[in-house]
Amino acid sequence: SDSPTIMNVIHFELRDAVAVIRLDSPPVNGLSHAMRTGVVQAVRRAESDAKVAAIVIVGTDKLFSAGADMREFGTPAVLAEPMLPAVISVLETSTKPVISAIGGTCMGGGLELALGCHFRVATPGAQLALPEVKIGLIPGAGGTQRLPRLIGAEAALNMIVSGEAVPADRFAGTPLLDQLVHGDLLEGALSFARQVVAEGRPLKRARDLTVVHAKPDAYLLWARNSVAAMSRHYPAPLKCVDAIEAALRLPFDEGLQAEAKLFIDLYSGPEARALRHLFLAERAAGRVEGLGRDVQARDVNQVGVIGAGTMGSGIAINFLVAGIPTVILETRQEALDRGVKHIHDYFEARVKKGKLKAERAMAQVSLLKPTLSYDDLSQADLVIEAVFEDMAVKQSVFETLDRVCKPGAVLASNTSTLDLNKIAAFTRRPQDVVGAHFFSPANVMKLLEVVRGARTADDVLLTIMQVAKRIRKTAVISGVCDGFIGNRMIGGYQREALFMLEEGASVQQIDSALETFGMAMGPFRMSDLAGNDIGWAIRKRLRAENPLAAWPSAVKLADRLCEQGRFGQKTGTGWYRYAKGGRSALADETVDELVRLHREAEGVTPRQISSAEIVQRCIFALVNEGARILEEGIAQRASDIDVVYIFGYGFPAYRGGPMLYADRVGLLAVERAMEGFSRTVKEGQAYWSTAPTLARLASQGKTFS
Ligand code: NAD
Repeated sequence: SDSPTIMNVIHFELRDAVAVIRLDSPPVNGLSHAMRTGVVQAVRRAESDAKVAAIVIVGTDKLFSAGADMREFGTPAVLAEPMLPAVISVLETSTKPVISAIGGTCMGGGLELALGCHFRVATPGAQLALPEVKIGLIPGAGGTQRLPRLIGAEAALNMIVSGEAVPADRFAGTPLLDQLVHGDLLEGALSFARQVVAEGRPLKRARDLTVVHAKPDAYLLWARNSVAAMSRHYPAPLKCVDAIEAALRLPFDEGLQAEAKLFIDLYSGPEARALRHLFLAERAAGRVEGLGRDVQARDVNQVGVIGAGTMGSGIAINFLVAGIPTVILETRQEALDRGVKHIHDYFEARVKKGKLKAERAMAQVSLLKPTLSYDDLSQADLVIEAVFEDMAVKQSVFETLDRVCKPGAVLASNTSTLDLNKIAAFTRRPQDVVGAHFFSPANVMKLLEVVRGARTADDVLLTIMQVAKRIRKTAVISGVCDGFIGNRMIGGYQREALFMLEEGASVQQIDSALETFGMAMGPFRMSDLAGNDIGWAIRKRLRAENPLAAWPSAVKLADRLCEQGRFGQKTGTGWYRYAKGGRSALADETVDELVRLHREAEGVTPRQISSAEIVQRCIFALVNEGARILEEGIAQRASDIDVVYIFGYGFPAYRGGPMLYADRVGLLAVERAMEGFSRTVKEGQAYWSTAPTLARLASQGKTFS
């Protein structure tokens, strides 16, 4: 009789005397405006139907709701009534029992909706979370007020401030969970509903409970101190504590108002805006422009890794953890053994730390097949090469792969600096060749630059993007150029740091200015970690290739350092010195002396350089190169560049990446600062010409985003 769907996102159905409201809006049952409207209409319909004695709200077994529909952020729909608090109020004030049946993911607004129901049943493995803190917010639809009433202030704060998911069975015995459902979720929920009706149980409302705590003052003081220590630069975690304090001290409705105010303050603040940008940027990065609708990824069930060095062994770990059988190949037994040992050590350490069960580790390690023979690669669907960074070596490897790999196998190179198109041309199947540039340590760093060669096939690109998801990497597509997106941009950043060292700043002053800005590591500490000899080797090669080229005098500083064998952490000295086996960078007078002598020899009178100048010159150098990268179509979109810098280079997430940062500063202001540098600083003429795209956007009053 009735139409079974409401607003296209909800199925409404009567099961005897129980109205079932099924949320059905793939992929995440987001609480879009249509969904919010639909829930209200469905509840109203159930209320007005005399046959209905109870209401069950359910999603699928895998998904109740993942919360707000992030696609609505920044559009009027996000503020269109009914907003979530109004929807929840309709549920809470319903005169008929409302039961949420939670299977799978129940996050953010989805959980807040469930908390507004009178009863909750869930499958044991359902995952409950309030992850708003991860995008710089607090729950804003009563979550911070209802959750402490249901599970206690401390457990609620832990959940809200961490944003981590908790399996439903942990809530057994609390007012949060009325019943665990083993077996079919909907059937379990229906029988629970009938029981509630039969017993005439009073409706339970979280708002009617009070939060009790034996020592609220002491607890809040402790919570604030520990949260503050962990959340420098991020305002949301401390606001979580404020919200819990409101739940402890205020009547429910006043608590809701306090929560709403905290939420709104955060929502419009720069950190939350940056984190929302990043959330959307990460998703956008996975989309490949210009891909036909009919393009399908190839199956990847077996992987080969060539080279078991630093990168190869780390790359292999990713695949083993994802449960994908992996062959790892070396030329010499010792090198193979070393790589395999590194892999085993990794799993052993995870087990020792309690992060991984021993059997699971065993199962994952057993997916590894070490070999010296290319015969073992004949069945591989994807091969990733991570051998020495030397074109001749790459050539021999790719020629061999071309001979032994099955047709359709994807052939990827982890090269950082070599021309992917040349590598592809070593094979008779350049369409199957793609770059997969991992970052070190490859099993830890989230970023993967996927390098699209001139002839890389669309389905190969798509395959790598999907593989990236399986191994939990954030993939960004880069065109072929020297250094791809990330390393190409870092060149200018390091150059400016070196120039300022020559001009008068100290190593520590430069690093500390950028670390205060939020970079995980200043340029000199970063260079010590990566190895100063890498740049030295590149410079030596370039000089040999082009002996007449002129180099800025500041480069001598880096050369002198390397001539003294100060390669960085691995040799115990670099721009800093390191205690034996230690990682903390200690100031070293030898370096100050080296710098002093250099300035003297070059006739440089050192000047005071402000932290503001240090930050601007290093960060705007990133921005300017980023603009060129966009212009040349090397990056698909500005937000991809932000993703590269946040996930691969320690750029502060709360600033949203270099391109968003430039947007915030204002592109006209960025351009003017750069013009200033071009006139005033040494070598400014040569290095500070504004990228045309930046100049154009600045003059039009536009932004990168
Ligand atoms: P590495 O020296 O640690 O490892 C290279 C391994 O390849 C060695 O174990 C060597 O025995 C093996 N090998 C050499 N020739 C081989 C061949 N013909 N067949 C099979 N194995 C062979 O070097 P790495 O740091 O792991 O770098 C590997 C690749 O990854 C390079 O292309 C490098 O540019 C790139 N890369 C390195 C980093 C990094 O930070 N180290 C980051 C990104 C990309």
